[in-house]
Amino acid sequence: MKRNTWQREAVREALDTSGGFISAQGLHSALHAGGSPIGLATVYRALSDLADQGEADSLQSPDGESLYRACTTTGHHHHLICRNCGLTVEIGADEVEAWAKRVAGEHGFTEAAHVVDVFGLCATCSATAR
Ligand SMILES: [Zn+2]
Ligand SMILES: [Zn+2]
Ligand SMILES: [Zn+2]
Repeated sequence: MKRNTWQREAVREALDTSGGFISAQGLHSALHAGGSPIGLATVYRALSDLADQGEADSLQSPDGESLYRACTTTGHHHHLICRNCGLTVEIGADEVEAWAKRVAGEHGFTEAAHVVDVFGLCATCSATAR
């Protein structure tokens, strides 16, 4: 499907420059601030397309909001996310991989997958929070 190509490119670029995880609404505001006439529904659709195709990571915030990011690590990884400034660190978690595989196996599960993302306050935000 080739429609909405420029919108998709605009969304991808905005995602690249945003740094941390961002909501569709946040990205839409950023695009508007940059003068783009793109609609919110189009941003939602472009983001879910990018996520489906593995060009963007998506996750649920603790408030249940869908957040997106163009990660530099391809393949399976986890995230540390600052809930104040949005700073995101891509992390591997060998312990989690081993644990998930073991508990799944203990219950006879195969092809187990998991999503583990850690939200907190980054070092900078922790320092200014007090
Ligand atoms: Zn990622
Ligand atoms: Zn922070
Ligand atoms: Zn993992």
